[in-house]
Formats: sequence, structure tokens, C-alpha cells
Amino acid sequence: GPLLAGRGLVKAYGRTEALRGVSVELYAGEILAVTGASGSGKSTLAHCLSGIVRPDQGSVTYAGRRLEELPESRLSELRRTDFGVLFQFGQLVPELTALDNVALPLMLAGTDRRAARAAAGEWLERFGVRGQGELRPGEMSGGQAQRAALARALVTGPSVVFADEPTGALDSLAGEQVMSALVHTAREAGTAVLLITHDAQVAAYADREVRLRDGAVTSLEVTA
Ligand code: ADP
Ligand code: ADP
Repeated sequence: GPLLAGRGLVKAYGRTEALRGVSVELYAGEILAVTGASGSGKSTLAHCLSGIVRPDQGSVTYAGRRLEELPESRLSELRRTDFGVLFQFGQLVPELTALDNVALPLMLAGTDRRAARAAAGEWLERFGVRGQGELRPGEMSGGQAQRAALARALVTGPSVVFADEPTGALDSLAGEQVMSALVHTAREAGTAVLLITHDAQVAAYADREVRLRDGAVTSLEVTA
């Protein structure tokens, strides 16, 4: 069965119906693109699936557990251990080097600094930015910083990565490097990736595509 599934998700903000009964399934090792115009509900769907937002109706099941039945403390622990997030830009700590940024989630989880930095270095190496490890985010190119951010999202070994417009601030070459790093990870580590994008070229990296319009699914397509 699916690793993560949302069924009949409804979410309103005041009179705005952000989601009007959306169902999606995400399987291990799969990249699922969620596409649609600005305001169609993509981020709200990702927030419901990742347990940041509680839907008004419907349910989210992750690895056999219903998120709405978990207490907030258990849910935040689950998010930390099992889910990784990658945004458009800006999630690296500006004062820390790339290496320390990537080591940070492991240190917060109790790994000692030396081991955390060693693991961080391996992830930077994998994504071709080990040489930039001692730079701060502001000293790196946008694409290098985003690959470091991807390393940080993956260093704890999450089962699911939520990537919200991960290439939105990058030129096409840098975007391709980030996407191929994501694809390799999904294939090798069996990580499931929920990829939010309104860029058709980025969506083409996905295995399947769910298209939203005004809070509802308009089509489900196999893209690869
Ligand atoms: P995106 O198109 O990437 O979702 P938005 O600017 O629409 O970017 O939204 C960014 C975030 O701001 C959303 O994830 C949502 O939580 C929040 N947001 C969007 N619209 C509103 C709003 N009208 N009022 C308050 N918060 C909003
Ligand atoms: P998308 O990611 O496709 O741009 P969103 O999920 O961010 O869409 O937003 C869907 C709708 O819900 C939009 O009309 C947006 O303004 C609204 N919305 C999203 N988050 C909030 C929020 N926190 N408060 C109020 N309105 C919101």
C-alpha cells in the first residue's frame, strides 16, 4: 500500500476553500508532482500531508498511522524523524557553514558533533558541494546552497521529503542539478518525494502528477 495517503481532505481558511475533498497516495521511492496555478491548494495539501495543518475533514495515513489521532508531541517527533522539507530558498541558517547546517539536524537528534559533521560531509560530497562545506549560505551560489539544503533535508534519513517549489529560485542548470539529486535519492534510498511545482519541466522529473484546480484534483497522470 501507499506510504502516505490523504483521503477526502477538506480545509477552509474562513470562506476560502483551500481543499475541497482531495485524495492522494504517495508510495516509497516515488516522486509525485503536485501542480496547479497559484492558490489552487498545493501548499495546503502538502501541509495537511506533513501534519503541519490539520484538515477540517478527511484523514492522513502515514505508515499505517492516522496523523489526526496522534497527539501534537508525537506528531512533531514524527515530522522530525520521518519527514524532510525543502523550500524554495532560505532554510539554511545564515550564520553557519554549509557543513554545520547539514550536521545540525543530526546534532539536534543527539549525534555528537564529530560524527554529525562526518555524515554531513558525505551528503555534501554526494551532491557535489563538499568543496563549499566551509562557506556560509550567502557565500554560495543559489544552486550550491539549495543542494546543501537538500543534504540537510536528507541527512536524518527521512522516509518522505516535501519539496515546495525547490527549484523556484534557481536558473535551469542549477534546477536540474537539484532535481537529479532528488531523483537519485528517491531511487537509491526509497525516499518518497512530494514535489510541489508549477514548472512543467520540473514536474517532468516526477513519476506521477496530480493537478489541482481551486482545491480539487483535476487530473492524475503518469509522467514517467
Ligand atoms: P504558494 O503559492 O507557494 O503557496 P503563497 O504566497 O500562496 O505561496 O502562500 C505562502 C504561504 O502563506 C502558504 O503556504 C500559506 O500557508 C500562507 N498563506 C497563503 N495565503 C494566505 C492568506 N490569504 N492569509 C494568510 N496566509 C496565507
Ligand atoms: P498554492 O500552494 O497552490 O498557491 P495554497 O495552498 O497556498 O495554494 O492556497 C490555497 C488557497 O488558500 C489560497 O486562496 C490561499 O490564499 C488560501 N490560504 C492558504 N493558506 C492560508 C492561510 N494560512 N490563511 C488564509 N488563507 C490561506
